[in-house]
Amino acid sequence: MGKNLTRREEDYSKWYNELVVKSDLAENSGVRGCMVIKPYGYAIWEKMQGQLDKMFKETGHENAYFPLFIPKSYLSKEASHVEGFAKECAVVTHYRLKNAEDGSGIVVDEDAKLEEELIVRPTSETIIWDTYRRWIQSYRDLPLKVNQWANVVRWEMRTRLFLRTAEFLWQEGHTAHATREEAMEEAELMMNVYAEFAEKYMGVPVIKGIKTESERFAGAEETFCIEALMQDGKALQAGTSHFLGQNFAKAFDVKFANKEGKQEYVWATSWGVSTRLMGALVMTHSDDNGLVLPPKLAPIQVVIVPIYKGLDQLDAISEKVDPLVKELRDRGITVKYDTRDTHKPGFKFNEYELKGVPVRLAVGQRDLANGTFEVARRDTLTKEIVKAEEVVDKVVSLMGDIQENIFKKALDYRKEHITQVDSYDEFKKIIEEKGGFVSAHWDGTTETEDKIKEETKATIRCIPLNAEKEEGSCMVTGKPSVRRVLFAKAY
Ligand code: AMP
Repeated sequence: MGKNLTRREEDYSKWYNELVVKSDLAENSGVRGCMVIKPYGYAIWEKMQGQLDKMFKETGHENAYFPLFIPKSYLSKEASHVEGFAKECAVVTHYRLKNAEDGSGIVVDEDAKLEEELIVRPTSETIIWDTYRRWIQSYRDLPLKVNQWANVVRWEMRTRLFLRTAEFLWQEGHTAHATREEAMEEAELMMNVYAEFAEKYMGVPVIKGIKTESERFAGAEETFCIEALMQDGKALQAGTSHFLGQNFAKAFDVKFANKEGKQEYVWATSWGVSTRLMGALVMTHSDDNGLVLPPKLAPIQVVIVPIYKGLDQLDAISEKVDPLVKELRDRGITVKYDTRDTHKPGFKFNEYELKGVPVRLAVGQRDLANGTFEVARRDTLTKEIVKAEEVVDKVVSLMGDIQENIFKKALDYRKEHITQVDSYDEFKKIIEEKGGFVSAHWDGTTETEDKIKEETKATIRCIPLNAEKEEGSCMVTGKPSVRRVLFAKAY
């Protein structure tokens, strides 16, 4: 096709970057590591937000908003949290600029130095728990289940559009509970919400699991995650949900009076997914012709391209198409009827293929005469001729078929790329030559995990929640292990 996209097998990473830019999702900006999300990309993100937001509300959460800036002293209150985030913080030190005395431009006004420096939030546990101290006094104030949609900044050194940026958009849920059990349940529930969203809406199969100590969120006691597999065999952490124990309650002195009137520290969770999901979506389904979008998240679900010469022909086509557009919209389908006379049909076909529009209808003079439409699906690149009176039902059923088909395709790929191994030699070979997840025994120590990472670049993606107990011995040290864990090279 004439899109000049690098092919995946040639250079997957180049293919991805080109695709994101050419399909108008996003582009790099003048600020290192920060991207511009373009309208087409933002429309997909809005769809993701809309569905997730609905799911959060259905599980009893409310939205609120907290400040962008966090006083430096807050961040240092939870020891492991600050240790984890200090390395990548943007810090505000001044609040004013002035003209340079030598006329060389604008400089920071040293007289306007902040008394206490402010951190641009990398995540909001600290400012939120400082607030919760004022909101929570008694067991009657619990549980408290709040979510915020916001941007955060983590000064990442190696960035890539959507997957890892210095500023990213996300949601962060922060909940407070009276008991350990309830908080643990919440953390697990939100991992399940993320998994459902990924599979049913994004069409991205995920493995649910828990992180090892070294991959855990800074300040968490347990991190639940969903892990996805990209088409190049690399894993991507697509969402995390943390059980924070009483760490933040203790750091910010958040206590409640229980039913017996005794003071106890509050139990916490936090959970987030980010614009990284956009990267997961692109990398999971797209092909050498461009994006492949799941109907449930596609900003345009059906595009109709008229093939005509002159306005009379267009009018004749529109007479058939206008009522069809209305009927499709009545069935809840997002339709674009592209009547631009500035571009040829072939150009439009290419453009919508590149942009991953799930279904394309084309109609020309012969179709008019025959009372038909040409119906093309983006996922399989197949075409068929459908009678005009059957087009609406056809399109409606294609929405479901395509959604299902791309999920199944991704699931099949993943099934083919989970390899069970029992020796370290075999492990290295698979990681190097085949990629994907490798299921192996590990002795449970950070030391062994680090050694494997150093030697193979593969990390433990998660201890799968559905992993069955299985006596075995660590592939590296031979020490006993009770279950297999999943390794992979990851983004
Ligand atoms: P965390 O707070 O570290 O558990 O991350 C929450 C969510 O944000 C996870 O789903 C991560 O995959 C995602 N995330 C973390 N860092 C970045 C980044 N630099 N760019 C985009 N998404 C990120």
